[in-house]
Amino acid sequence: MNMLAQACETAPFYAAQGRECELFAQAHAARLPLLIKGPTGCGKTRLVEHMAARLNRPLITVSCHDDLSAADLVGRHLIAGGDTRWCDGPLTRAVREGAICYLDEVVEARKDTTVVLHPLADDRRVLPIERTGEQIAAAPGFMLVISYNPGYQNLLKGLKPSTRQRFVALALDYPTPEIEARIVQAESGCTADMAAQLVWLAQALRRLTDHDLEESASTRLLVMAARLAVAGLPLADAVQAAVIAALSDDGETVAALAEVAAAVL
Ligand code: ADP
Repeated sequence: MNMLAQACETAPFYAAQGRECELFAQAHAARLPLLIKGPTGCGKTRLVEHMAARLNRPLITVSCHDDLSAADLVGRHLIAGGDTRWCDGPLTRAVREGAICYLDEVVEARKDTTVVLHPLADDRRVLPIERTGEQIAAAPGFMLVISYNPGYQNLLKGLKPSTRQRFVALALDYPTPEIEARIVQAESGCTADMAAQLVWLAQALRRLTDHDLEESASTRLLVMAARLAVAGLPLADAVQAAVIAALSDDGETVAALAEVAAAVL
């Protein structure tokens, strides 16, 4: 067994939708940054965790939010006991260690934040630290991975073309029913029958387009429902708590979703 296949056995479980693991490994070998797009809960983070283990690289994950500044990524001077010392941020640590740096939901971050990624994401592979005047060359093995969810609330925010054109793009979606059932079963320990039922329900919910849902039922929600059911909750209650209540706060929409669930389960 080659080393990559061996590492695959001990890596966090990831059921591939297509050839995304190969693309990830090739982008890493070619020292190219990767942009993973897809709806929430479809497996983006798990793919990164799986591939970091397979490629034997440390993984540093940052969940981006609208207040995330460049200093949060790069680092800042801290005052401790009257002394000022520099403290690396997560991106700088990843660059020094040759880790995989995963910026989850990168469109949430402020626009000026993404600009610090530019010199790292092209041929230069350097991180200039303005505050200290340092230019850090990325250690071998370093890889920048960003993800975003092109759902409608992000359409306006988007990513600047100058940022996105630096990345190899990989589009993920919800997996096919067979693969999704395998994931739900493996992640929850439920029976094949229950996994199939939950996936069937997800298919029906995803077909509902006339409701004001920001997102549809994700694989993550199915896994949570299955775990509640394995813990002893009746399946219908588990679906209500983990799927339906999670998707909407609007009374009418919740009632419509519950009707679909009652018809399917
Ligand atoms: P995202 O980062 O796209 O929001 P995650 O990677 O966190 O989603 O996936 C949410 C959960 O769904 C995971 O913790 C895992 O249980 C399950 N999951 C989704 N897709 C997969 C997959 N392809 N292989 C294994 N587990 C998956």
